[in-house]
Amino acid sequence: MQKETAKDAAPENSGDAKAIDVQGLHKAFGELEVLRGIDFSVARGEVVCIIGPSGSGKSTLLRCVNLLEEPSSGRVTVAGTEVTDPDVDIDLVRRRIGMVFQSFNLFPHLTVLENLTIAQRRVLRRDRAEADRIARVNLERVGLGEKEASYPAQLSGGQQQRVAIARALSMDPELMLFDEPTSALDPELVGDVLAVMRSLADEGMTMLVVTHEMSFAREVADRVVFMDGGVIVEEGIPERVVGDPQHERTRTFLARVL
Ligand code: ADP
Ligand code: MG
Repeated sequence: MQKETAKDAAPENSGDAKAIDVQGLHKAFGELEVLRGIDFSVARGEVVCIIGPSGSGKSTLLRCVNLLEEPSSGRVTVAGTEVTDPDVDIDLVRRRIGMVFQSFNLFPHLTVLENLTIAQRRVLRRDRAEADRIARVNLERVGLGEKEASYPAQLSGGQQQRVAIARALSMDPELMLFDEPTSALDPELVGDVLAVMRSLADEGMTMLVVTHEMSFAREVADRVVFMDGGVIVEEGIPERVVGDPQHERTRTFLARVL
């Protein structure tokens, strides 16, 4: 097994302006063709929202970006590394990608602080003091500096999701993927999570966000991608895609969610 040391050495110096580049991506589960030729990219520092009906392939697309699903064909490149290259060290690539899902997946038996330090220590080999310091910085960032000793069950859903975001940030990701991060939350808790995501966007984080929150997409996204039936139907600035959609399928979808 050869592993190129260059990949390990300085991934952040891979001078590619694209954070994500997807070319001709297809994904089938047996007979079911879920992604039917996706081409798109996300520039560094860009915030892209993916919208579209349930079952259109949004989650599958996100999962193909960090190889939680293996594409049937096509090419996916993340920060200059082709993740669909059979020789890629996918663990190294995943380390550079923060993921936040609908379900927060916190360890219930660990405190908030421990939830934020466990991967830092095991994966990044940070010592306890350094991991704790970085965890506290990120808890402050999501407005939960007070909660480091709490257990997940003692927090609201919105707070748990903010802990999950802080956990992802503690790994110093180059980009963040969000898959419907507010869909499981009571309506009154959605705003705080969106506010944290908005501040991340303002700080220049590269973000690919699947969401049904049209006001977030309108106000925060640089670009909105509308998917239906495993293809991108249209994409562009929010004012266009959400404000003045060109395709009937987009209009039908927006009429249902707005
Ligand atoms: P979305 O996130 O837009 O709701 P998904 O990407 O989750 O859509 O799913 C797209 C289609 O792929 C759905 O029909 C779903 O049932 C199917 N699908 C997703 N994951 C799997 C899987 N692991 N095995 C079989 N079918 C799947
Ligand atoms: Mg989904």
